[in-house]
Amino acid sequence: GRKFFVGGNWKCNGTSGEVKKIVETLNAGKIPSTDVVEVVVSPPYVFLPVVKSSLRPEIQVAAQNCWVKKGGAYTGEVSAEMLADLDIPWVILGHSERRALLNESNEFVGDKVAYALSKGLKVIACVGETLEQREAGTTMEVVAAQTKAIADRVTDWTNVVVAYEPVWAIGTGKVASPEQAQEVHCELRKWLAANVSSEVASTTRIIYGGSVNGANCKELAAKPDVDGFLVGGASLKPEFIDIINSAT
Ligand code: 13P
Repeated sequence: GRKFFVGGNWKCNGTSGEVKKIVETLNAGKIPSTDVVEVVVSPPYVFLPVVKSSLRPEIQVAAQNCWVKKGGAYTGEVSAEMLADLDIPWVILGHSERRALLNESNEFVGDKVAYALSKGLKVIACVGETLEQREAGTTMEVVAAQTKAIADRVTDWTNVVVAYEPVWAIGTGKVASPEQAQEVHCELRKWLAANVSSEVASTTRIIYGGSVNGANCKELAAKPDVDGFLVGGASLKPEFIDIINSAT
């Protein structure tokens, strides 16, 4: 089976004092063993070392982005090599906020995923449609094109988790219904089976993100193709512990 995966994307939030409090809450919470659920939190770059060193060992850390190739004269960027050097095991790539606000294209995200994997990082690769695209009936086309740009560049999917995050559900309080999430996850898995392999389709975790909270996580987690969550706002709050426990 696919091990349940819960990621907390802190986005561009937190002071050092707040980060300390979040880590304390995470360290004190009752969570299932790592055989049952894989938990990864993603603080802003500047807090990664302190979070990694102060967090209980069962919870891993992720960067929220990295550069597309080897480091060098790229002011403001952080390379995959640097993350690997600091033993940061995971990186989130292709988040919709970066696609929309920083114009990251499908191809650019695909290149980043391939490069990060080649440096030994594990990748949470984000896909998802806008409200306009959903209303136009192109959800699966959009998600397939985003996934294809990754599939064109990646052969080994062992270290990839796909996060389906419909843009209309992110930070809006409008969570996808369990049926809506299941439908896209199931279609995405079929796409992987047809275009990559049945092995990759059955083993790759597809997690849901977009207004997940302590109250709606159980119902979503019960869907057969929902293998976990990528949580934004609620990952900064004590209810993140409840979300971590939603698989059990
Ligand atoms: P919210 O949970 O705040 O809607 O954010 C979801 C998200 O973008 C996680 O990457």
